[in-house]
Amino acid sequence: MKIKKYFLIIIILIPAVVYACFRILVFIADNKATDPEKMIERYTDNSGGRFYRINSGINNSYLIPCKDGWLMVDTGYPEDYGRFRKAVASAGIDISSIKWLFITHAHDEHAGFAEALRKDTGCRIIVPEKSLNDLRSGQMVWTGKAVNRRIEFVSALYDIVKARDMKFPPIIPGKNDIILTNDDKIFLKGIGIEGTLMATPGHSDDSWSLLMDDGRAFCGDAAMNFLNLLGADYRPIFITNEKEVYNSLRKLLRSGAAYFYTGHGTAFGKEKIEEMLAEYKK
Ligand SMILES: [Zn+2]
Repeated sequence: MKIKKYFLIIIILIPAVVYACFRILVFIADNKATDPEKMIERYTDNSGGRFYRINSGINNSYLIPCKDGWLMVDTGYPEDYGRFRKAVASAGIDISSIKWLFITHAHDEHAGFAEALRKDTGCRIIVPEKSLNDLRSGQMVWTGKAVNRRIEFVSALYDIVKARDMKFPPIIPGKNDIILTNDDKIFLKGIGIEGTLMATPGHSDDSWSLLMDDGRAFCGDAAMNFLNLLGADYRPIFITNEKEVYNSLRKLLRSGAAYFYTGHGTAFGKEKIEEMLAEYKK
């Protein structure tokens, strides 16, 4: 009888406690971004120019100066748009000065409020050709898997707690938008940015990065500073093609990447990637 009782406690109580704890953690992660000022990270580049990271919960957007305004890298979930707007205002930036939005890949927490931003600002978008199907349907189609079992468990729980449906308002590029097929430097120069847009697949087939000539790599989910305690080791926590993940990071390093500004987590130096690549020699 006693054994049965303990068995019931283990079966019901422990999962309930785990779920409740996780729910609280997701709530904290989502709502730590209620103070606009706390969402903003102000950076200065080598020539003294300002650029920004806006953190909408678990996701980062970046604002980089370009001709006549700002180029933004990635959005957050669709529901993050309100607080994103408040943070941009708090940084002293007029949202209508966002002229370009580069979506690194068609995942819901990167493309989520792109359409709302387009409507409000008239910004033009820069998107990988391989993202087009998912952007047009407003649905992230996921083919990858977690880097390890711990992360698989935590992510599955996160998706349940957040009731994540991988959807976002569809994004249909127009004739003034830029579709990325080959690595590009010329277009960027035209909008006043010294850098290269380059394909960095592995996390997903459609993942691209913006590598500035001064070594700043805005790489979306090609690398992350997220769940390292669970063994992510600066890799994307979800991977479609592991070999491509490492090859893309080698490509970024070879092309001069010195500092990584990722979609998730705080920025870090290239030595973290070099150490990780030495560990996983693939
Ligand atoms: Zn992603």
